[in-house]
Amino acid sequence: MRVPFIAGNWKMFKTTAEAVAFADEFKKLYQGTDVRAAICAPFTQLAALKASFKGTDIKLGAQNMHFEDEGAFTGEVSTNMLKEIGVDYCIIGHSERRQYFNETDETVNKKVAKAFAAGIVPILCVGEVLEERDAGKAFDVVKKQLTGALSGLGADLVRKIVIAYEPVWAIGTGRTATPEQANEMCAYIRKLVEELYDDLTADDVIIQYGGSVKPANASDIMNMDEIDGALVGGASLNAKEFMEIINF
Ligand code: PGA
Repeated sequence: MRVPFIAGNWKMFKTTAEAVAFADEFKKLYQGTDVRAAICAPFTQLAALKASFKGTDIKLGAQNMHFEDEGAFTGEVSTNMLKEIGVDYCIIGHSERRQYFNETDETVNKKVAKAFAAGIVPILCVGEVLEERDAGKAFDVVKKQLTGALSGLGADLVRKIVIAYEPVWAIGTGRTATPEQANEMCAYIRKLVEELYDDLTADDVIIQYGGSVKPANASDIMNMDEIDGALVGGASLNAKEFMEIINF
């Protein structure tokens, strides 16, 4: 049985003071909710959020990590550093990182493997750009990203992964994929996991949709059979709005 999982991706928003103010409001609103929720915050806000979420079921996520334990990698953060803070999840391969920071299927694969080795659950992002969708290549693109990301990983790990299908043309644009389009790709992803592994693994994998999820469209998206959750950017910055999505 897959538990619905809604994660907020704050991207490069909120100072520590703003993050703590959000947490104070959000943890009150979240009390008694049985949908799993996480906030994926900038590195510098993680420790303060961890302290603020203490005693709640709200999970904490990072938005990136390095695949080495330590070394001369200026500006990077390791899984040991994230684990010390108590981070549960890490977004890996977000399209903004692929687009602006040279993230490739190969680095994504290394990061996914490293996250699992460190006991951090990867939220693996896949998704096509508009030209690829218009050219009828969306499924091939997602297949390549997914097989690349999971290369060499066993079913014992993959059954715990979270996969976020985020069509790039729907991110921050206000243009959401229709629930049917989103469901179709999530079903395709689950089928791929079944082909690469087995049906039990495919049954366990949590598949989120991401891209302009808002309170107004959350229930239509969340009620689709193959969609287990959402990765929410802009609408996760406001505690009440994010909570409305969680309460879809
Ligand atoms: P958005 O971002 O909800 O603002 O479209 C989603 C994401 O990039 O994860």
